[in-house]
Amino acid sequence: AKRTNGDPVALFSEEMKVAAFLRFTLEGDLRRALGADELKVLYQPIVDVNQRAIVKAEALVRWSHMDRGSIPPPEFISLAEETGMIVPLSRCVMEQVCADIAALGDDLPDDFRVSINLSGVNFMDAQLLPTVRAVLAEAGIPASRIEFELTETVLMRDLDYATVILAQLREMGVRVAVDDFGTGYSSLAYLRRLAVDTLKIDRSFVNELDDGQGIAIVEAVIGLAHSLGLEVVAEGVETVAQLEALSRRGCHLIQGFLFARPMSSAMLAAALHNPAFV
Ligand code: C2E
Ligand code: CA
Ligand code: CA
Ligand code: CA
Repeated sequence: AKRTNGDPVALFSEEMKVAAFLRFTLEGDLRRALGADELKVLYQPIVDVNQRAIVKAEALVRWSHMDRGSIPPPEFISLAEETGMIVPLSRCVMEQVCADIAALGDDLPDDFRVSINLSGVNFMDAQLLPTVRAVLAEAGIPASRIEFELTETVLMRDLDYATVILAQLREMGVRVAVDDFGTGYSSLAYLRRLAVDTLKIDRSFVNELDDGQGIAIVEAVIGLAHSLGLEVVAEGVETVAQLEALSRRGCHLIQGFLFARPMSSAMLAAALHNPAFV
């Protein structure tokens, strides 16, 4: 702050002070929540419309706050990233996912996987790989049950670094999906260098399918995925028309409210056993 104009405190409006205070309280709350079992993981099924089966699920965190009820991730993930609390938070999510997978055991189809979102801070964390190994070993589940979702922007930030980490994850048997694909600026050449397994078409493009706008982008992403031998998942599918537009163009892996919202692991187990689900 500039000191030449007198009292530096006057540079902050009442509103800014209130915002800073709320943030401060939220940060303390989040720190406490991590120790108090307030973070819950829900699972959103990903359906293969050809096989008519749930083949994956995305883990999505929820904060059940004691006073404020269920807080959605957009309200606390960026705060967790800025304060470094995303590191213990992601570990907590990984532990819950692996424990749920272990508990579901034989109820899970052989090649069923759960995908876990990682933020840029997690990706740059030198302890990421040791943490993943430790959490998998602790739960006693194979790495092949897990996929990580990383955004295009995070992967492209430092391509040399990303290449090394992705190769190590692949060596462990953990898969990697590029999340929100199409919203960043990755080129075909970059994508070929990275050991990724899945492209996730961002919800914004799926939305635009209705007015014909998103079709070119969706077709390009599906074509890219197929030519590189990658899986392609469409997220945010809400209507039968969107499902048909995607499936007609060769995208058979569908995630969205059309099939299911994020649900508890018990509900997921029931859905996996319900032949009428898809
Ligand atoms: P994302 O990774 O793009 O996750 C998909 C989001 O779209 C989820 O919101 C999901 O509930 C929502 N969604 C799925 N299908 C539909 C649909 O058909 N219509 C609509 N309107 N929405 C749909 P959610 O759970 O609120 O998560 C928001 C974002 O927060 C996620 O976006 C992800 O970036 C982040 N996030 C969630 N869980 C975690 C986590 O455990 N770790 C990290 N680092 N980030 C997370
Ligand atoms: Ca995601
Ligand atoms: Ca996404
Ligand atoms: Ca998205």
